[in-house]
Amino acid sequence: MLLFLFLSTIGYHSASKLDSIILIIVNMKNKNEEYWKKRLSEVQYQVCRLGRTETPFSGKYWDNHETGMYHCIACDKPLFSSETKFESGTGWPSFYKAVEKGNLELVEDRNHGMVRTEVVCGKCGSHLGHLFEDGPKPTGQRYCINSAALNFEPKE
Ligand SMILES: [Zn+2]
Repeated sequence: MLLFLFLSTIGYHSASKLDSIILIIVNMKNKNEEYWKKRLSEVQYQVCRLGRTETPFSGKYWDNHETGMYHCIACDKPLFSSETKFESGTGWPSFYKAVEKGNLELVEDRNHGMVRTEVVCGKCGSHLGHLFEDGPKPTGQRYCINSAALNFEPKE
């Protein structure tokens, strides 16, 4: 209803401008699959929207040692700092801590006959990876994240 009222007040704007306004006011988690298919590559879509896991040692970032910030590939939310990245030997980028806990959501995952903790972007709901409790100090946690769900921005 609110959306309808809002749209009627901007009635004469062009379709493309209307699109960008709608983009801002509609919650990222309510995006339809067409929206994501257009914006993500095939691998990114498979991981972020279908919850698939990339092949280990195949992604861009498992062996990245640069200093900077890892953002959600789908919505650009900052998720992990290079300062908390560690060598897990798994072939996936691994972190012992999130930049801010509120930037992620943890969901119980009972697929594949296991109970695991799924890690999801707190802003757009994209699947990122899983959280395990066998990480290094100081947290003892291991965020096992798909490279395809991340975009790395080096620190200048
Ligand atoms: Zn996101």
